[in-house]
Amino acid sequence: MATIIKNKTLKDLGEAGIIRLVQGKVSPQLSPHIRKGIGDDCAVLETTEGRALLVTTDTLIEGVHFTAQTLSPKALGWKALAVNISDIAAMGGVPRTAFLSIALRPDSGADFLESFTDGLKALADKTGIILAGGDTVESPSHAMITITLLGDCPPEHLIYRSGARVGDDVWVTGQLGNAAAGLFLLINKKVSDVSGYKLLVQAHQEPMPRVEMGRALGESGLVHAMIDISDGIAKDIGHICQQSGTGALLQAESIPMSDELLKLAAEAEKSPLSWALHGGEDYELLFTASSADEEKILSLTSKVLGTHAAKTGTITQDEGIWLQTEKGKEPIQSGGYVHF
Ligand SMILES: [Mg+2]
Repeated sequence: MATIIKNKTLKDLGEAGIIRLVQGKVSPQLSPHIRKGIGDDCAVLETTEGRALLVTTDTLIEGVHFTAQTLSPKALGWKALAVNISDIAAMGGVPRTAFLSIALRPDSGADFLESFTDGLKALADKTGIILAGGDTVESPSHAMITITLLGDCPPEHLIYRSGARVGDDVWVTGQLGNAAAGLFLLINKKVSDVSGYKLLVQAHQEPMPRVEMGRALGESGLVHAMIDISDGIAKDIGHICQQSGTGALLQAESIPMSDELLKLAAEAEKSPLSWALHGGEDYELLFTASSADEEKILSLTSKVLGTHAAKTGTITQDEGIWLQTEKGKEPIQSGGYVHF
């Protein structure tokens, strides 16, 4: 395929050629839940009795969410799918079927689309997702990628944002701020040695959503509320509190941060805590559970992640999001990613 499309633009390929290119890359075989995939007017899916259908969609726009400097075409394909998978994981669901709408300039190289599809396919294969359809259109300027992802879950295992209870512990998987620090590195040429910060760059470009963990937390029946961290923990705990009619107090010293993040922050004279609280795009899971279940959460998360989740705060009756530091208690500035 690579030799045939070399030096060709999307205009050269035409719509049929574009569909053939994408279809040739993604698995053409059907799965038990798909009767008809790419190639007809609609995809035809089987519904599973006793499972709720989950639907999420997310758009990435060139110049707003990514640039050629921050994401390679392959990383873009991975990330466009990852952000959607993370939303399914945050409900306790299993991702199944993806639909891709892509708007590209006609003079874009066909190799861009090929690499993009490779990235998307790599993560789809890892997570058992099938691309079952989509749309391809011409854009006069910037590239735009929209993925719609369907998943499912037994209804009794679904976890909403709205279930947090006063006195709950607040938990987070993984480490926070790595993606924001990685983005800083990619944009900021002043920091010369990017190779020493592979973890940070990878966190920004190829995040691995927590599907298995989300599903295990849903099945455990221990979790009261859950969300994935896309805007930064400060803002995303705010979404849980808003939906649950509560507040939260986070402990600054319990916010999990990587050695690479601390090293880069020192080198670039940035606040590591600010990246961790407000950076966003971590795609970790943020959830609440009764403090009586602390041991069970530690043991379950250790079993699934290989390392336990971090207890970072408490759900409070008083509204507002607060941060306990060594200097005392202060309201968290509502930073985080601002969409408009
Ligand atoms: Mg989300």
